[in-house]
Amino acid sequence: MAPAVVVVGAGVIGAAVTYHLARRGARVHCVDRADRPAAGTTEAGFATATAYRRFPKAYFELNQAGIAEHAALAGDSAPWWHRTGTVAWTDDESFAGYLAQLAEWGCPVERYAADGTSVVFPASGPVAFLPSEGWIDAVAFTRHLLDRAVAHGATLALNAEVTSVSGGVGLADGRRIEADVVVNAGGSAADEIGALAGARPFLGPPRRSLIAHLLVDGDPLSCILRAPEVSIRPDGPGRVVLRSDRVDRGLPPRSGTPDPEFVKDLLDRAARVVPSLGTATVRKASVVDARCARDELPSVGSLSAVPGYYEAVASAGVTLAPLFGKALAARIVDGEPDALVDVFTPDRFEAAETS
Ligand SMILES: Cc1cc2nc3c(=O)[nH]c(=O)nc-3n(C[C@H](O)[C@H](O)[C@H](O)COP(=O)(O)OP(=O)(O)OC[C@H]3O[C@@H](n4cnc5c(N)ncnc54)[C@H](O)[C@@H]3O)c2cc1C
Repeated sequence: MAPAVVVVGAGVIGAAVTYHLARRGARVHCVDRADRPAAGTTEAGFATATAYRRFPKAYFELNQAGIAEHAALAGDSAPWWHRTGTVAWTDDESFAGYLAQLAEWGCPVERYAADGTSVVFPASGPVAFLPSEGWIDAVAFTRHLLDRAVAHGATLALNAEVTSVSGGVGLADGRRIEADVVVNAGGSAADEIGALAGARPFLGPPRRSLIAHLLVDGDPLSCILRAPEVSIRPDGPGRVVLRSDRVDRGLPPRSGTPDPEFVKDLLDRAARVVPSLGTATVRKASVVDARCARDELPSVGSLSAVPGYYEAVASAGVTLAPLFGKALAARIVDGEPDALVDVFTPDRFEAAETS
């Protein structure tokens, strides 16, 4: 008989796992303590499908496969998938070497003819175009996956906090859902859920990021930009999203509403790349705390020490969700291995703790 599975978390990863399990015939229940899907990191992130600057090679290949899975799921067109490509350059001399490595790894990468209409490109040095990449409306994508999962027989319970994990899950309101398998897709809360199952902790400390959503005149960008000081992407008509590792490094230790000086710093950096953004209106700016595995790589698959317990956690969860969903469903329902995904086994943290 098809296994009964509880997926804890209705973010983009939990939704993808739920969808693929339901398609394979599992009896699957997705539960989330929030009052809506995608309420965790999924609705707060930058949401590009990218393999840019992903190391080591196995992780780059995983992200490339994630992008391909998005394209396959979206088919000819899907409202959440925007295959715009990424234009990238840096201010360090190693960039040409990095582009050569990308090409060697089989990544489609082109030299970008920087004609500089609305973007200020560097005076010298290569500018690359990665045509297969894109950005995703992560909330719409998550909702779509859950709708499709429910159409395949899955159930979704919101306002349903998991407070125990054993032979299924117990919820804060006293209900129980019996299951053969529990998948921890709890994102930044994965250690809390894992502890309920008797699993070891594996997350690193929270990483803080400032994300700004802008209203702009027209559509100044046709693709994702990765500039040295800032990343910028389109977000639908008249909208743009910004973030910057360099700004994030200086953020004070609190999430929520950012100090205006950091928002201004982010905007200034963006306006040096796309001058028209200097007059944009900030629609929303927030500081997000998110946690991932302490080695910053995914933890996906079963944990040998806890029978029936699986993890699906990643720092590039938007890119990887559909791939993880497909691989975990194949593993849980039909016992099929996945050479790309299985490298990132949750067992590696167990081994590190006992050695
Ligand atoms: C600034 C920033 C930029 C990013 N940019 C990108 C990018 O460009 N590309 C990319 O691929 N990724 C990016 N990411 C990462 C990506 O957003 C996340 O990896 C992804 O959203 C994680 O999805 P998730 O489903 O694992 O977690 P979440 O969306 O956090 O979902 C976890 C869910 O679990 C639920 N939950 C937790 N505990 C319980 C419990 N006890 N009971 C029931 N439910 C529970 C929560 O309510 C939550 O809804 C970015 C992240 C940030 C912060």
